[in-house]
Amino acid sequence: MKKFAIAIHGGAETVKPSEIDKKKEEEYREGLADALKAGYDVLEKGGSALDAVEAAVNSMERNPAFNAGRGASLTQRGETEFDAAIMDGSTLRVGAVGAVRYVQHPISLAKVVLQKCDHCLLAGTGAEEFALANNLPLKGPEYFVTPEKKDAWLDKQQEKAAKKRQPGSMSDTVGAVALDMNGNLAAATSTGGLTDQLKGRVGDSPIIGGGTFANNEACAVSCTGEGEAIMRGVLAHEVYAMMKYAGNSLQTATDKAIELHADKLQGDRGILSMDNTGKVAFGFNTGFMKRGYQAADEAPFVALWESEKIRKPAKLKEMEK
Ligand code: ASP
Repeated sequence: MKKFAIAIHGGAETVKPSEIDKKKEEEYREGLADALKAGYDVLEKGGSALDAVEAAVNSMERNPAFNAGRGASLTQRGETEFDAAIMDGSTLRVGAVGAVRYVQHPISLAKVVLQKCDHCLLAGTGAEEFALANNLPLKGPEYFVTPEKKDAWLDKQQEKAAKKRQPGSMSDTVGAVALDMNGNLAAATSTGGLTDQLKGRVGDSPIIGGGTFANNEACAVSCTGEGEAIMRGVLAHEVYAMMKYAGNSLQTATDKAIELHADKLQGDRGILSMDNTGKVAFGFNTGFMKRGYQAADEAPFVALWESEKIRKPAKLKEMEK
């Protein structure tokens, strides 16, 4: 069988085990397993890395457990707003969207930008009109805003009123990287941004080289965490640069990017990367990163906690019984 592989993340954040109940953990694991399967199925049929990362991210955008598409975090105004980017490592073509609303699958809009648009990044109403012109499905706020995220938003407003706390607490993001049978890499990232962010704030995810990057020469990368720090550190491109110019291995480059400029750029960081042999590296400083990986003809694995050895999702264990 020809070599191919996919890896995904559903965000990294600083949380304690006591803050996430078992039901939520299982929801995450199942969601990761579903997304991994969606991407793997594309690659197994000989599909492109670009289509595989889109399929994996679409799965998490549909799943309200993740902060992308349906179930995304709410801005200060209590609305959802999305950023997404996709990059083809073989052509260096890019499509990205910032601060879009109503688009059911922001990553698919980013892919249409990559395929049909002379520009790399479209934002706001222009991006929404581009989605309309290309017949992408749109949805109203009632589709995106889940009760859980509404409650989190209400809690935040109360907390702010009580403590005059600054906005911008962590949320998560989803992403995927893949290597296809033709040896091509791709990366995709999609997010609802930070809980309580300002309307119009755009994070690192659609910033090429910041939160998303792919180049067949070395690797594909998708980041999660404090977007302002990630884009100021240009972390996705740093992983590539450390491999290409310093000859670092994928894991070393990823680990170094997690530490880079940490004295000046504080905050949560999670980096998913894959090299052009299909090897994967997960780096994070949060203790918790929803993540998964599957290579050709191998069993899929998912994990949440740092201490956890990557393990098979419950659903798969049941199927094997
Ligand atoms: N990086 C995302 C952003 O800043 C959020 C996250 O990954 O948690 O928009």
